[in-house]
Amino acid sequence: MKRKSEYKLCNWCLERQCIKNHPLQKIVEDCKICHGIWNQLDKACNKIIQATKDYQYDSFLIGLTLDHSFYDNEDKFRSRFRIRGKENIKTSLLREIRKKFGNISNKKINLNYPDITINIQIGKKLETIVSVNSSTVVLSGRYKKVKRFQINTKNTDINDSLGVNQRHIEKILKKELLSRFDSDSIVFRPIGKEEPESLVLGNGRPFYVSIKNSKIISFKDDFSIQSKGMIFEINEKLRALPLSSPGYVKKVKTIVSFQENLRASDLKEINDSGIRIIEFVNRRSKNWKFIYHIEFKFKTQKKLQFTIICDNGLPIRKFIEGNENISPNLEQILNRKCKCDRFDILDIMNEDDLVN
Ligand SMILES: [Zn+2]
Repeated sequence: MKRKSEYKLCNWCLERQCIKNHPLQKIVEDCKICHGIWNQLDKACNKIIQATKDYQYDSFLIGLTLDHSFYDNEDKFRSRFRIRGKENIKTSLLREIRKKFGNISNKKINLNYPDITINIQIGKKLETIVSVNSSTVVLSGRYKKVKRFQINTKNTDINDSLGVNQRHIEKILKKELLSRFDSDSIVFRPIGKEEPESLVLGNGRPFYVSIKNSKIISFKDDFSIQSKGMIFEINEKLRALPLSSPGYVKKVKTIVSFQENLRASDLKEINDSGIRIIEFVNRRSKNWKFIYHIEFKFKTQKKLQFTIICDNGLPIRKFIEGNENISPNLEQILNRKCKCDRFDILDIMNEDDLVN
C-alpha cells in the first residue's frame, strides 16, 4: 500500500489535507485529486468577466458545480489516511474564485441579495461553463395621467374598459423600460384602476413593476419617465414585491347626469351623511369600503359634479350607476337614475397620512 508521500498531490491539495512534513512537489496536472484545477482559476475568472461584462451591478454571488470525480478522488485519499473534518475541494476552490473575481471586478459579494448570481460548472475534463442570472428588479412608483386616452370603449363593459386602460398604460411603460433595462420581461401592477378617459392627478396612482433578467441592476433609485400623456415617477427599488399593498384613499371628481331637473333639496341625503359603509357582494365574498366625504356642485340642473373621498378600492362608476352588488349605491341614496359621464382621480393618499 502506498504511503502518503508516494501520492502525487499538488501543493494546493496538499495544504487542504493539512499533512505535516509532506515533501512539496512540482505537480500540477498530475495531481491525483484535482488534475490541475488550481491552474484553471485564471481561466475561470476570465470566463466570468466575459459573461458579466454587459451587466451593470454592484454585488454578486458565485455558485460552483464540480464534477463528482473530484470529490471521489479526495474522499478516497482522506479515507485511506483517516483525514477528517477538513475543508473540501469545492469549498476551497469556490472561496478562491470568489476572492479572485471580487478583486478583479471590484464588486462586493452579497450572500442574501446579490444583484447577479454567477454559476460555474466544471466538468471532469476541466471544461468550464459560466452562466449569469440577475435578480428581479422591483420598483415602486406613482403614475400621473395628464391626458385622456382616446380609446374607443363604447361597446366594452365597465370591467373591460378598466382593463383596456391598464393594458394601454402598461404598454407605454414597458416600451420605455425595456430599452432602458435591456430586459426581456416586465410585469406592471397598479394599485387600483381607472377608465381610459379618466385623468390621474395629484401624487398619482401607486404601482409596482418587476423587471426580470435585467442587464441593469444597479442604478439611481429615482427617475421619471414621460411619454404619451403619462408621467411615471419611480421612487424606490424594493427587494421583493410586497405581500400586501398598503391602504390608500382616493379623491375623485365625477360628473353625474340625471334624467330630470334637480334642486338642492333633492340632495339632502348627501349633505346629511357622515362616513358611509358601502357593501360589495360577489360570488365568493363580501367586502366593505368606506366613503369619507361627498360634496356636490350644480353644473346644470341635470348635471352635477361630485367630489368623493373614499377607499381606493371603491369602483366609482359601479357605485354611481347602481350595481346590484353594491349597496347603498348613489342611485339608491338619491332614489333616482344616475349616469356617470366620467370621473377623474384628483389624488391618491396613503391611508396613514390621512389619519395623522
Ligand atoms: Zn491538486
